[in-house]
Amino acid sequence: MRTALISHPLCRRHKMIDDHPECPERLDAISDRILASGLDLSLLQKTAPKCSVDDIRTVHSSAMIEHVLSSLPSEGLNELDGDTWLCPESFKAIERAIGAGIMAVDGILNDEFDAAFCAVRPPGHHANQTTSSGFCVFNNVAIAVKHAQELGIERVAILDIDVHHGNGTQDIFREDKNVLFCSLFQYPFYPNTPIENNDHIVNSPLPINSNGNDFKLVVEQHWLPKLREFKPQMLFISAGFDAHLEDDMASLSFVEADYSWFSEQIASVVKEIKCKGIVSFLEGGYELSSLGRSVAAHLRALVDSE
Ligand SMILES: [Zn+2]
Repeated sequence: MRTALISHPLCRRHKMIDDHPECPERLDAISDRILASGLDLSLLQKTAPKCSVDDIRTVHSSAMIEHVLSSLPSEGLNELDGDTWLCPESFKAIERAIGAGIMAVDGILNDEFDAAFCAVRPPGHHANQTTSSGFCVFNNVAIAVKHAQELGIERVAILDIDVHHGNGTQDIFREDKNVLFCSLFQYPFYPNTPIENNDHIVNSPLPINSNGNDFKLVVEQHWLPKLREFKPQMLFISAGFDAHLEDDMASLSFVEADYSWFSEQIASVVKEIKCKGIVSFLEGGYELSSLGRSVAAHLRALVDSE
């Protein structure tokens, strides 16, 4: 697959309290591993543009946007929720994180590439229409989905493989039957969303210590059949890598080979159902070495798929 890597140096400038796991070094770990593996030669490297405030308005309330903008400090940090802070340059990172997704959708629709990974921060999947939470300010993947819908894409799927439930994304698309939302996550665990399932929401809670075999069962038994039935025209991934065995944010035991397998399966089904492409967003993943290796595995599988 022609695969783009979309990022921007300003995504490093968002900083929270000292020793916060959602740190700028996460992006360094990813770019180091991409270089060390030689993957950079196989990727189309793109610089994320700024989004507009109107892009953010497609998902988030005016009151929430005003709250975030007015909470940007001129120095020091401002707390948005118990574990999310803003620094003076946070909005510069946010604009590029959202802009990366807009560029990814446009690039697929313009036939420039088939898949894109947005190596951006802050992450987004816990933010809903009205509230920032869990390291997330605005919902990057939801804004990219809205952009695709505005450009005529009628059916999309969002697959969330972060170890935490994508509660913000689920809230945003709960009433939109043209958006298939599938999320696997450790349960019970933050954010402890009540489990709901219907014809376009597929939640796959996993008990602690679940491993790659459990991941495969979820995908093979529930997600792939649903994707074949739903036939999304564009597929989005909330790609968190904090379910990795070495990541002590949670207690699942996935490894790089599991992320490779998942990415191969998704690339294959996208081709089978004639879906236009894959837009993947970095969400969680906090152990720097395993994060870098997992993203490289994800990208290698996309690049190598037909
Ligand atoms: Zn997470």
